[in-house]
Amino acid sequence: MENQSIMDRLDGKERLDGKEYARRYYQANKEVRIARSKAWYAVHRELCKARTVAWKAAHREEINAARQARYAARPELMRDRAKYQRERRRARYVTLKFGLTVSIQNKPQNPGFCAVCKHEYPDRGALAGGHRSLAYHHWTDEHPEWGMYLCHPCHLMAEGIDNNRAAEYLRLKTAIEQSG
Ligand SMILES: [Zn+2]
Repeated sequence: MENQSIMDRLDGKERLDGKEYARRYYQANKEVRIARSKAWYAVHRELCKARTVAWKAAHREEINAARQARYAARPELMRDRAKYQRERRRARYVTLKFGLTVSIQNKPQNPGFCAVCKHEYPDRGALAGGHRSLAYHHWTDEHPEWGMYLCHPCHLMAEGIDNNRAAEYLRLKTAIEQSG
């Protein structure tokens, strides 16, 4: 068959265009590919970093010109630069421990309500008791993506449980009740 494409043969009877085929192929092999590129990066990290540094040094003028053009196109970026940087950092930042920033690429979106007590915090800013009153809580730096957004009281409770203070509290409570 002259005009039967390779996509037809590869995907049985269903006819897929190239883009859709590529998408499905990627989905089917996603895990393997991600694992492979992570492993590759772990081995070649220093080389990658050195290359990036060298590339940036070689293209400094271009990079600066592009940045200036970007700011010229959107004057509000320049005006609110500190704000934008803060927002960007907030989007990735998890915590600061011993001077080490723990950050994640895909920090979950603030859902606007506390994961534990379900109280809603509409986005009115922290001082108005809004969205930003919710903090991203995680319990192990090994997996900063294991986390949830909690309101302040629930956050303190969660930290208490994580630090095993809850057990001590319950022990004392029982001891007091049993002492009479
Ligand atoms: Zn809560």
